[in-house]
Amino acid sequence: MSSAPLVGVLALQGGFEAHEKVLRRLGADTRQVRVPADLEGLQALVIPGGESTVMTLGIEREGLGEPLRAFAAGGRPVLGTCAGMIMLDRLHLGVLDVLAQRNAFGRQVRSFEADFEVEGVAGGPVHAIFIRAPWIAEHGPGVQVLAEVDGHPVAVRQRNLLALSFHPELTGEDRLHRFFLRMLD
Ligand code: GLN
Repeated sequence: MSSAPLVGVLALQGGFEAHEKVLRRLGADTRQVRVPADLEGLQALVIPGGESTVMTLGIEREGLGEPLRAFAAGGRPVLGTCAGMIMLDRLHLGVLDVLAQRNAFGRQVRSFEADFEVEGVAGGPVHAIFIRAPWIAEHGPGVQVLAEVDGHPVAVRQRNLLALSFHPELTGEDRLHRFFLRMLD
């Protein structure tokens, strides 16, 4: 990174502040995105975890659907974590060629932590927290699977789009955010 990139974090609902902290620690500037005008001038965008039904309503209410689709189609990096992964899928914004299955590990009981390798992330296994997490039930040929848990994709990439079932912003683990920021190069 030559100068600090400006990264937006969708701030309608959910865990946006924790993402902002990690991104700022890594030298990025951040901006909370609540209305379409907030997307202007951003170099990358994070859609955080939260509750996908509530986030969907917020996106509709603010008229953010089309602007978010255009942002993703424009090639700038977009990271979706947990509910953010669901927002990117075929049934929601429709930009990532996957079908995310909500609460796939089970509802409350299956909030858990796991360690696994993520392709493209050096330095050993990543420590990940899953909170009522989705997994990828189906994906198209343009989607690269970077990690799986129990045989189900939990980290995928399609060109400029990175989607994670888990919460890298909650573990002090910043390698996934570094990976994301390298997508700006
Ligand atoms: N289960 C939530 C949903 O379906 C996602 C949970 C999360 O983002 N931690 O929206």
